[in-house]
Amino acid sequence: MSNTVPKILIVGGGYAGFYTAWKLEKLLGRNEAEVTLVDPLPYMTYQPFLPEVAAGEIEPRHVVVGLRRHLKRTTVIAGKVTGISHATKTATITPIAGDESFEQGYDQIVVTAGAVSRTFPIPGIADNAIGLKTIEEAVAIRDRLTSNFDKASVLPAGPERDRLLTVVVVGGGFAGIEVFAELRAYASSLLKFYPSLAFEDTHFHLIEAMGRIMPEVSQKTSEWVLADLAKKGAFVHLDTQVKGAVDGVVELSTGENLPTDLIIWTAGVMANPTVVRGSDLPVEERGRIRTRPDLRVGTDEEIVEGAWAAGDVSAVPDLSGGGVGGFCVPNAQHAVRQGKLMAKNLVAVLRGEKPKEYNHKNLGAVAGLGLYNGAFQSGNIALTGLIAWFAHRGYHGLAMPTWERKFRVIGDWMQNFLHGREVVTLEAVQKPRAAFEEFAARPRPAAPAADAPAPAEKKAEPVAAK
Ligand SMILES: Cc1cc2nc3c(=O)[nH]c(=O)nc-3n(C[C@H](O)[C@H](O)[C@H](O)COP(=O)(O)OP(=O)(O)OC[C@H]3O[C@@H](n4cnc5c(N)ncnc54)[C@H](O)[C@@H]3O)c2cc1C
Repeated sequence: MSNTVPKILIVGGGYAGFYTAWKLEKLLGRNEAEVTLVDPLPYMTYQPFLPEVAAGEIEPRHVVVGLRRHLKRTTVIAGKVTGISHATKTATITPIAGDESFEQGYDQIVVTAGAVSRTFPIPGIADNAIGLKTIEEAVAIRDRLTSNFDKASVLPAGPERDRLLTVVVVGGGFAGIEVFAELRAYASSLLKFYPSLAFEDTHFHLIEAMGRIMPEVSQKTSEWVLADLAKKGAFVHLDTQVKGAVDGVVELSTGENLPTDLIIWTAGVMANPTVVRGSDLPVEERGRIRTRPDLRVGTDEEIVEGAWAAGDVSAVPDLSGGGVGGFCVPNAQHAVRQGKLMAKNLVAVLRGEKPKEYNHKNLGAVAGLGLYNGAFQSGNIALTGLIAWFAHRGYHGLAMPTWERKFRVIGDWMQNFLHGREVVTLEAVQKPRAAFEEFAARPRPAAPAADAPAPAEKKAEPVAAK
């Protein structure tokens, strides 16, 4: 192959990166460009389904899209980009195996490395809480809650049983409220399998520092959600902060203490610090890559040629006039559409044409709040309850990339409708060798050899002394 073929390097195969690569495969002619995608994970995660995975509504593997299966013309590298020197057009890649990082040259770089959970230095949070950004976290949450039901079912009523059956979610944004409501519904559905446990034994608390939840919906809709949660035994503490979580005791600014075995942190995200700090690309005040409406890195005045960014890692101006501070908010709606436009713009630039500007008016927000319950808001239109739940399933069922994945997710929903949701824990998978190790035959310790010489003092013992 001629080495004049332009090299496109995509950093991160989540929403924006996956869609960029997927669309590029459709748009690029043969030998028009070489596309390489770097991600430490072999899949793109459909994050809006994480709350339903945590609640046993969808099988975990069904909400991820295998990169190698669906990106047939893209070279996938299993590793992290830990440095970008755009001045020399090289990226440093740290592969997931082996000790050596290596440098990868490129002509065009697409930074789509997403965001990570944003925490504050609250004692105990880093050690005791879990986030909800990855499929592994969603599975661990589901397994922990289910295992805790098993443990609690054999304990007498008391503080330890209460601790196991207490769930604390921090952050009342969309993700926090969705996982809180889904887990509450899951816990309620588990009770029928645990005759020794009653509804009153389960405790659900969500802590929100602001005076309201879900800023994406109207005040009225958010109040409906609060009232609905309270009716179901899930309590939201507004205007309350977490002061500590040492040894699993969540200490609130109100003076209340909540001993718990499950603290889920969903209080915000920040642009991927490894990639942002490791690069020489311009960064704005909130730590995102400064991006133009046409998705090239830079500002109106200055274009950083050959560098592009999209999704949660980037600050793309929101030309529809909607976004917070004038920028697109970090959500999948933008990441997907930016990914698709990114591919078109890259191809346009390679062909000497002008890239187009990104302009998307938010379609609204839809949340699943447990089986047959949801909330939807688009402008002044609000729906709640069953109809919003149908809107949630309809929208996300269709938005899941690839037909193969859509069928798997919709298949799970149909199975659950017929047979109920999955309620077993596979927490033991964390120690997969335990069962084997317990009974595994081991070589006996070497026996002392029969003809070994007796110890020196015995040998010297005189027979006559007897
Ligand atoms: C629980 C939850 C529910 C949500 N619900 C909704 C919803 O209902 N609607 C909505 O619009 N949005 C929703 N979102 C937000 C949405 O999922 C994100 O905005 C979207 O995933 C952002 O896409 P992205 O491509 O920027 O990042 P991501 O999809 O996070 O992808 C980033 C990729 O970069 C990779 N990566 C990380 N570090 C490196 C590195 N150093 N080198 C290379 N690759 C790297 C990661 O492994 C990942 O694959 C939700 C998010 C969560 C967590």
